[in-house]
Amino acid sequence: MKINTAEFVISNSDVANCPNEPLPEYAFIGRSNVGKSSLINMITNRKSLAKTSGKPGKTQLINHFKINENWYLVDLPGYGYARVSKSTKETFQKFITDYFERREQLVCAFVLIDIRLEAQKIDLEFINYLGEAEVPFCIVFTKADKISRGKVDQHIAAYRKQLLANNWEEMPQHFVTSSTEGTGRDNLLEYIDEVNQG
Ligand code: GDP
Repeated sequence: MKINTAEFVISNSDVANCPNEPLPEYAFIGRSNVGKSSLINMITNRKSLAKTSGKPGKTQLINHFKINENWYLVDLPGYGYARVSKSTKETFQKFITDYFERREQLVCAFVLIDIRLEAQKIDLEFINYLGEAEVPFCIVFTKADKISRGKVDQHIAAYRKQLLANNWEEMPQHFVTSSTEGTGRDNLLEYIDEVNQG
């Protein structure tokens, strides 16, 4: 897919105020500092469409970007920054869970995971939450340039093992990306294109 247009439409913290158009929507979410803004800018080929957060936890809104006039890229707030909570509902703010549970336009969530790190509890919690809420999702491993290719495969295998230990039957569809090197951009856009075409 070629990105012809990418425009910011609206920011808000209430799913009721999200755009009222029946366009398919792809949401990007992950722990603060995982590389979400960099990935969105890489995918859309725009230098600063999404604000890269100097301070983690800064972008705390649902941001809608309209791409090629026919789908929405949704930048969701980073989670897990300086938050100590008892339940998933508290860990993931209510407007985020509302978004996942009520937004009919949502086609797929891309959950960003820093490929260098061992599986983090909060990410597994979030993935399990998506499973329970029956939200279709893919995993996007970020910052792949920071480790060797051999390590990339090792880390993915370790992640798969963690998911199977969390009662997942298989590793979900996943992508390996590096925003600094442009890795994974074509695969992600091709996937979105295929899903959009049904
Ligand atoms: P966000 O908080 O998830 O939006 O993360 P940012 O996109 O602001 O990135 C957090 C930090 O990681 C910044 O210092 C980025 O330059 C760096 N970063 C993001 N993606 C990559 C990547 O693919 N490779 C490398 N080497 N650094 C990255």
